[in-house]
Amino acid sequence: MTDIFKSGIKNIIKGINKKDYSIEEVVNHFIQKVDALDKFNLVSEKTYDEAVTLAKKADTKSMEERRPLEGIPIAVKDIFCTIGNKTSASSNILKNFIAPYESTVTKNLKDAGAIVLCKTTMDEFAMGSASDTCNQGNVINPWTKDFSNPLTPGGSSGGSAGIMAASGTCFSLGTDTGGSIRQPASFCGVVGIKPTYGRCSRFGIIAFASSLDQAGPFTKNVEDGALALTHMVSYDNKDSTSSKEKMPDLFKNLKSGIKGFKIGIPKQYDINGIPAEINELWHRGKKKLESLGAEIIDISLPHTKYALPTYYIIAPAEASANLARYDGVKYGFRSGQKFEDLNEMYCKTRGEGFGKEVKRRLLIGTYVLSSGYYDAYYLHAQKVRRKIIEDFNNVFNQVDLILTPTAPSDAFVIGEKVDDPISMYLNDIFTVPSSLAGLPALSLPGALSNNNRPLGLQLIANTFREDLLLTGAYALEQEINFNSEPL
Ligand code: GLN
Repeated sequence: MTDIFKSGIKNIIKGINKKDYSIEEVVNHFIQKVDALDKFNLVSEKTYDEAVTLAKKADTKSMEERRPLEGIPIAVKDIFCTIGNKTSASSNILKNFIAPYESTVTKNLKDAGAIVLCKTTMDEFAMGSASDTCNQGNVINPWTKDFSNPLTPGGSSGGSAGIMAASGTCFSLGTDTGGSIRQPASFCGVVGIKPTYGRCSRFGIIAFASSLDQAGPFTKNVEDGALALTHMVSYDNKDSTSSKEKMPDLFKNLKSGIKGFKIGIPKQYDINGIPAEINELWHRGKKKLESLGAEIIDISLPHTKYALPTYYIIAPAEASANLARYDGVKYGFRSGQKFEDLNEMYCKTRGEGFGKEVKRRLLIGTYVLSSGYYDAYYLHAQKVRRKIIEDFNNVFNQVDLILTPTAPSDAFVIGEKVDDPISMYLNDIFTVPSSLAGLPALSLPGALSNNNRPLGLQLIANTFREDLLLTGAYALEQEINFNSEPL
């Protein structure tokens, strides 16, 4: 059973069906793996008892009763409500919150037979790029070699990305608002997919910035990503922005190659000051696509440089409205200090319950929405967002996919950027534009950096073209043949 995971989800299912091992054995195997990862602080809650009970039950099912992901162990970012489990978004304000209902995405996966092994640690309320704002301490990247200088797994879905790097489950779930699936995937050497906005229901996902939040999977390879994503998406009338657009069959052309594909290379992503090795990786990616028969086309996305400031107005604005619900009355934590009136109770509860980065976002968000500044900041940012969307609309008349680097660096040492929020925000420079435009995008491992840490390449497709995205990624993945492991 030692290499069971590495053969991919489809083969694990085959082995179960051939009775090479039982589902209970598969689950126990991964439980041991997750336990061996404790030192990386990837997991916020283990749900083993429930998992083993479900595995035993699944083992009694006949072949006809088996569902497509029957018995497949997964890890879930602690931002998805999973009924009866602690769901805290790594925040003290939700420290003891037990979800009374199930998110649609996890329900879909459970209905398909997947078994949740654990919830994963993350940046508080998904705000961050280093998984260093979690209430249970920093999350550590399994690629760390020197524990006196531990590496960040990226953020905000650092626990879910890290657990995949270490092959701790068959796949894991993250959310991506401005890059929180793709950037940690890049730092951890795994595949991370953010589907089109509206593909995965947001119901039961603790809200950060509602016009941007999207769920997606982390996997070891593109094919597993296609499988995981297929069972996550659905139209959901409990989410008003859920899309009714039918998901194309992600397997139909997955392995048909990319001959004749037109791949756009946006000149604005060639940014001054980005390490040379990132540009080299991008260049090599381009050459590989070309060798696979794709046509490379230089494109222009003129409003790219405004994407980061636009995001850092819109996301905090939406967060400040979404997080207003944590007031010590309706949810979770209430301060134990004495208070004279309701306002003082709110202040003490929110003051103690939220961490520094969340407070910073709430201050920015409240400021840009306040009456004197709304037009100057929020309204303006919305107009720029429209321009960014138009840029993409224009280029998707000419190209099938866009290739860029995923992040401006490899995994850095935890704490390196903690006193410099702007340099932390720069992590999102390549991922934020497609988030603002609601486009599907993914990161796949491209190479190792000079420091021997993974570097990711990003592909972006037009709205609802996850099929093209995955076909492109599969072809590139075969050509790159990244097979380095952290442990
Ligand atoms: N790093 C970005 C931020 O801090 C993105 C976070 C995310 O996608 N959830 O806002």
